[in-house]
Amino acid sequence: QRGHITLVTGPMFSGKTTELLRLHGRQQLAGKRCVLVKYAKDTRYDENLIATHDKHKSLSNTIKANELQEVYGEMFDEAVDVVAIDEGQFFSDLADTCERLMRARKIVIVAALNARFDRKAFEQVALLQPNANEITLLTAVCDCGENAIFTHRKSAATEEELIGGKEVYKACCRECYYKAESEM
Ligand code: ADP
Ligand code: MG
Ligand code: ZN
Repeated sequence: QRGHITLVTGPMFSGKTTELLRLHGRQQLAGKRCVLVKYAKDTRYDENLIATHDKHKSLSNTIKANELQEVYGEMFDEAVDVVAIDEGQFFSDLADTCERLMRARKIVIVAALNARFDRKAFEQVALLQPNANEITLLTAVCDCGENAIFTHRKSAATEEELIGGKEVYKACCRECYYKAESEM
C-alpha cells in the first residue's frame, strides 16, 4: 500500500462528515483496517463517536483526541491501513501528522472546514492542501437556493474555535454571506 491523502473540505453542513464516513465504509468493505479520529472537544451529537448533522454515527473504532500526537499509538499501529480524521482544522499537528502517516504508507482521509467564519484560512488545512493527493470541495445549500461555500457565524464572537450547530452557524453563498456580514 502507498500513502495517500484525501482532503474533504467545504463549509458547515456541506456533508464532509457524511463523506468521511462513506469513504471509511468503502475502505472497510475492501478489508482495510481503519481507525476514525474524533476531536475530543466536539461533543455536539455524541461524546465518543463521530456524528453527522443527520445523526449518523461512526463505529466503535473511533478514538478521541485533542492533539493527534495523543493517538499516535493507534494511528501508526502496523495493523492499521486507513486513518480517517474529522474536524481536521482543530488539530494543531494535522499537517505534520499527515506527512508522517504518508511516510508510514497509510491511507488518510481528512474532513476539514474550507475557511474560517471570516473566510480566512485555517492554518493546518492550508498546510495540508499542497500535500494532498485528492481534494473534494463540497457545498451546502444556502437559504436562497444557491450552493453555499462559506460559513457565516451568527454571533459576534471572534475566537477561531467556537463549536456549534445551526444556532451559531449558517452556510451561505457569496451574495448571502456579504449580506449577512453587512447586517452584523
Ligand atoms: P458537515 O460535516 O460538512 O458539517 P454533515 O455530513 O454532518 O456535514 O451533515 C450534512 C447534512 O446536513 C446534510 O445531509 C443535510 O441533511 C444537513 N443539512 C442541514 N442544513 C443544511 C444546509 N444548509 N445545506 C446542506 N445540508 C444541510
Ligand atoms: Mg462534520
Ligand atoms: Zn444565498
